[in-house]
Amino acid sequence: MRAIGLDFERRTLAERSLPQPLEPREDEVLLRVHEVGICATDRELSKFRFGLPPDGESFLTLGHEALAQVEVGNKDWARGSWVAPMIRRSCSPACDHCARGRRDLCQTGEYLERGINRAHGYLTPFTLDSGAELLAVPEGLLDVAALAEPLSVVEKAVETALRAHPMEPRTAVVTGAGPVGILTALLLQLKGLEVTVFSLEPEDHPRVRLLRKAGLAYLRDRIPARADLVFEAAGGNLNLLEWVAPCGVLMLIGAGEENLSLQPIRMLVDNLTVAGTVNAGRAHFQQAIEDLGRIQRPLLAAMIERRDIDQWRDSFGGPALIPKIVHRLD
Ligand SMILES: [Zn+2]
Ligand SMILES: [Zn+2]
Repeated sequence: MRAIGLDFERRTLAERSLPQPLEPREDEVLLRVHEVGICATDRELSKFRFGLPPDGESFLTLGHEALAQVEVGNKDWARGSWVAPMIRRSCSPACDHCARGRRDLCQTGEYLERGINRAHGYLTPFTLDSGAELLAVPEGLLDVAALAEPLSVVEKAVETALRAHPMEPRTAVVTGAGPVGILTALLLQLKGLEVTVFSLEPEDHPRVRLLRKAGLAYLRDRIPARADLVFEAAGGNLNLLEWVAPCGVLMLIGAGEENLSLQPIRMLVDNLTVAGTVNAGRAHFQQAIEDLGRIQRPLLAAMIERRDIDQWRDSFGGPALIPKIVHRLD
């Protein structure tokens, strides 16, 4: 059985032949993986910026945005069920938050993440998984289900920003037109906000055409008007606090490495909040699957380019024109 991942001895991306997984335990199911989306995290992993193999191993199977089907089920999951797995797994012994099912808020940082940190991912045709980590995907959403994991991260960020704003936010700016930026803009639009995306792509870029088709405003050469919510999804170093309206929230979801300059007086005079979120809880993941059915389907479909698994090397080079590359494994 083939597996695509990181060889930590040679420090290179590699394809390995691994034994087929064994029979699942009572709490597990055997999954047949159908599709895996690739994101900026995978590209960073492929440069060995972070990520670790499982303890005692030197290879990590990549892939954390998966759509799979139950091949061998258990009492909770019938054979043939379509599922999307959650990525993060509890630290051990579980901290308070992990014990309460919020691994996304882990207090120790010792959590596992499938396809990222000390647990194998899904770029392989078969894998075992704990039944408790799966969410059901309705058959009507299979064509866009590879977006469930990235949208779950966006759901958490949007929920956090809405909760942090003391009144009713009406306007939002999103920086970055990557998959997370576009999904953030589409979700905010679904919630009735007036959304502007700020990014660097030229007007004729497919991502910009997609944003225009969605009815979203797009700017690249001038700074947008101050907005109630500003989402940083570009990993850039713009002085974004200046873009936030009074009582507004600056939400950090792109992993920028530059320091952000805060202006304490403006922050308190204008009641500003700056926050960051990562990963997602089960409720966010469930909400993401529901919202995949609410966001205009042609827009979501236009975000995805499907590729055969044999083309996997091309997908780690850099961002493609189409925001989300999804590899088929069957
Ligand atoms: Zn990802
Ligand atoms: Zn924990």
